[in-house]
Amino acid sequence: PAAPIETDALIIGAGPVGLFQAFQLGLLEISCHIVDALPRAGGQCVALYGDKPIYDIPGTPVTTGRGLADSLLQQIAPFKPRIHFDEQVATLARQDDGRLLLGTSRGNAFLCKTVFIAAGVGAFVPRRIAVEGIASLEGTRLFYHPDALERFARQSVIVHGGDDAALETALALLPLAKAVTLLHRRDVFQAEEATVAALRERIAAGALRLQVGQPVGFDPAHLQVATPDAQTVALPFDTLIGCLGISPRLGPIADWGLALERKQLPVDTEKFQTQERGVFAVGDINTYPGKKKLIVCGFHEATLAAWGAAAIVFPDKSIPLQYTTTSTRLHTLLGVA
Ligand code: FAD
Repeated sequence: PAAPIETDALIIGAGPVGLFQAFQLGLLEISCHIVDALPRAGGQCVALYGDKPIYDIPGTPVTTGRGLADSLLQQIAPFKPRIHFDEQVATLARQDDGRLLLGTSRGNAFLCKTVFIAAGVGAFVPRRIAVEGIASLEGTRLFYHPDALERFARQSVIVHGGDDAALETALALLPLAKAVTLLHRRDVFQAEEATVAALRERIAAGALRLQVGQPVGFDPAHLQVATPDAQTVALPFDTLIGCLGISPRLGPIADWGLALERKQLPVDTEKFQTQERGVFAVGDINTYPGKKKLIVCGFHEATLAAWGAAAIVFPDKSIPLQYTTTSTRLHTLLGVA
């Protein structure tokens, strides 16, 4: 295995709180890497409500989930944090020298002085289609919640699912793809009224095919679908897109020997540290008296956790509080000097 990456801090999770954690660490000159199981930054904001408006970010009367993630990425850019996507942090163990060794699902290792668990409600993983052997198509002909649809141009595409993401994907494919079939277990959708109306209109116009049923098997050219009237139909396809929802898994974090209270990590409210020295927990994953699962609260937690970490990373240094407005040292760090 490759030598571990040595860093002052590892942030687990690139949700809004993990991203802002990188900013606060940067102001204190604490180097960090960020790891996220998802292919992109933003956590719940992007995975669950990318286009929905959000009104309670201080100083930002309105933005969207994705807009907030983009602003945070822009804000932390001066610190050049290295973000590792599509990678889940799987193990955490204390070393003899007091540092923490973390291992990931891709076989990478990080050796660090401090860890910030900003894992929200857990690692987001798309729900998979339950057909034996179909995983072998993943990445070539089977995609879950794909980001960009251009690659499906001129293809016969089946979109499997019945929520907003599924309907929006099917509709967005219409101008691109050769043929689009929406496959759902029933003729009822869990989606916004306007989206359902747009879908119904496209189906009525013959632009989009609706197939009610459940996938049960496949061959190289077809997906076999069991219909409610106990028939099996073979749907031709080049590409299958699964939009069956994204479910969070606390996953490996539960195995790290940290105390858990109803799947949350208890922390103090001075440093937002768990009972393990140097292991901080911020954002939706933590709990303490009065905890509210709000982004603004996570930002505050990340700020104080960074100061808690500074005492560990720089044990002999007393760091004065400085304002970004007036501190030339901070201006240099931010690249605005
Ligand atoms: P998350 O956003 O959950 O991000 C955690 C990240 O960690 C995820 O990307 C996950 O993949 C990753 N992760 C987890 N475990 C691992 C692992 N082992 N290895 C690698 N990566 C891992 N809050 C507000 O303040 N205002 C609102 O208006 C608002 N509206 C909301 C609307 C909806 C529909 C929902 C669902 C939530 C809303 N929230 C709102 C709540 C807000 O989104 C959360 O409080 C916020 O996302 C928490 O941020 P976080 O960074 O702690 O965690």
